Amino acid sequence: MIEKVVRSAEEFEKYEHDTYDVWVRKDLKGKEDDHNLCLNCARYNPSDWRYSCSIAKKLHGLTKSYAITAPVWECPFFKNMDVDDQKYWINQIKGDDNYGSC
Ligand code: SF4
Repeated sequence: MIEKVVRSAEEFEKYEHDTYDVWVRKDLKGKEDDHNLCLNCARYNPSDWRYSCSIAKKLHGLTKSYAITAPVWECPFFKNMDVDDQKYWINQIKGDDNYGSC
């Protein structure tokens, strides 16, 4: 069962992210890449979505349509890649203005 958690208003803030005003929990702001399993996955290819996993592609579409940030925490289809591959993709993503924040 999923339970809702009541937090005080001081635990949230609104800020501009990719030209949208969005709400975020203060303790999690800017930490999406630290928790996004896709950034370490061999099936993830944000430079060319035609060759990326379909789940990540759909999630990317949702994040763009609704200005949400949605890192993947758990996934049954995760495929690990070596450290050099991970560094390459993380650098590609951070240098890509079209990538956004997912
Ligand atoms: S398989 Fe899972 S972890 Fe890998 S890119 Fe797709 S959604 Fe992300």
